[in-house]
Amino acid sequence: MPWDLAPVSQCLCTALAVVVAGLLLALLWALGRVRGQRDEHRRSDSLRDSLTDLPNRALFVERVESALLQAVRERGSIAVLLVDLDNFEEINHSMGHDAGDRLLVVISERLRESVGREGMVARLCSDEFAVLLKSIPDKNAAALVAEHIGDALKAPIGLDSNEVLVSATVGISLAGSDQDSPEGLLRKADVAMHAAKAQGKACYKVFDPDASTTTSGRLLLESEMRRAVREEECVVYYQPLVALETGEVRGMEALVRWQHPVYGLIPPGEFIPLAEQTGLIAPLGRWVLREACRQARLWHKEKQSSSSLMLSVNVSACQFRQPNLVEEVHRALKETGLDPRCLKLEITESVMMHDAAAIAALWELKGSGIELAMDDFGTGYSNLSYLKRLPIDTLKIDRSYISGLSHDAEDAAIVHATVAFARALNLNVTAEGIENAEQVARLQELGCELGQGYHFARPLPSNEATELLVAGLLR
Ligand code: C2E
Ligand code: MG
Ligand code: MG
Repeated sequence: MPWDLAPVSQCLCTALAVVVAGLLLALLWALGRVRGQRDEHRRSDSLRDSLTDLPNRALFVERVESALLQAVRERGSIAVLLVDLDNFEEINHSMGHDAGDRLLVVISERLRESVGREGMVARLCSDEFAVLLKSIPDKNAAALVAEHIGDALKAPIGLDSNEVLVSATVGISLAGSDQDSPEGLLRKADVAMHAAKAQGKACYKVFDPDASTTTSGRLLLESEMRRAVREEECVVYYQPLVALETGEVRGMEALVRWQHPVYGLIPPGEFIPLAEQTGLIAPLGRWVLREACRQARLWHKEKQSSSSLMLSVNVSACQFRQPNLVEEVHRALKETGLDPRCLKLEITESVMMHDAAAIAALWELKGSGIELAMDDFGTGYSNLSYLKRLPIDTLKIDRSYISGLSHDAEDAAIVHATVAFARALNLNVTAEGIENAEQVARLQELGCELGQGYHFARPLPSNEATELLVAGLLR
């Protein structure tokens, strides 16, 4: 009987096809790996400084970001040290760039040694280095590291046949909350470093938020703030105010940010106090008001929001000292075409408790249909009788009470009492800083109708706020 070879050759063909496919897959995998490794190398090259092989600014920011996340999780804190050489320019000029480069390499090694394995050193630019210290207990521990760095740099450095002496000035900032950012930390360390330089170099300083607005930090930022106001570097973000029962967006609060050309987006807490002290709050506040009214009018006109959407704008105490505040508000409304009944001005308790002119301005604003809200209610004044004298429509309960709502009986009692108190005086209540569904439920039980917080949305740039309005409900 002749052999039927067809099935055998079929089998052989299939086996061959499998082997070829396998080889191809292996080849592709190997190529992918090579490319992956190449990409990895390229990425790691782009994250390192080519002279010193230290991490560069991009990698440093990445590491600070993850260290911050860890610190927040573990309730710890981290520190950023900005190390700026005091006399590098002179050495560069007198001995040449080549010698300058060699000096930087020596400095980078000394820095690495002095912070040990606990810290990470990066070169940000020219003669500016940064150190990240994870799990740092307090500012004294960070200051100790700054002292080590100062000592390590003291020993003379041999360059060609000369010995040069270098010193550095160090600015320190500490952080451990989710409000902190790598850029914010670097900025604060920079302010502290400039304050230290102003005191005579070769020393260190820990960032002090109060001092930063009164010493050399103030000089640095004040001139920049003037430019920011003049060149309109600020932007207005918007955070929705939501009806807790239905999820309907009832309003938007305008919150200013400073789009700094180097430091990125700076939150208002870091520059409003300075703007208030320097009087720059007047032009800044005027700009925010106009810009926000223009945006709200656009939402109404383009039917991207309901026509009753309220716009809330914060007004500082100092703005009430301007003689023409009422006229300015009227002018902004007139020029943008926004209905005065859609504008709510937010003021803090301290603003105008005893100032007759400010109280008169409030009544005048109220008389033209504008609403008024008492912001951060519960954090300021203790005598509540002033509320009778002021034409307030809304109390905004400070977020410090909302954060403790589900586990702190006292916070819950304060919120409960505030809602009852507001009802008795015929005022509306808004809860600030709602971060989870549990707080929403608890606030509803307590009779609070309106709320605002990260649970619904963070403050957003105008285009994203518009998308959110068009999309509708928030829960
Ligand atoms: P504010 O008027 O009490 O605004 C609420 C602040 O709480 C905002 O901070 C907002 O981002 C934050 N926030 C809202 N929801 C949550 C939350 O769920 N969790 C947490 N942790 N925070 C939340 P922001 O934007 O940094 O503004 C801070 C303060 O700066 C404002 O407090 C206001 O007093 C002032 N400010 C902002 N814009 C202006 C302005 O144009 N003029 C004036 N004079 N002050 C302004
Ligand atoms: Mg406010
Ligand atoms: Mg507030």
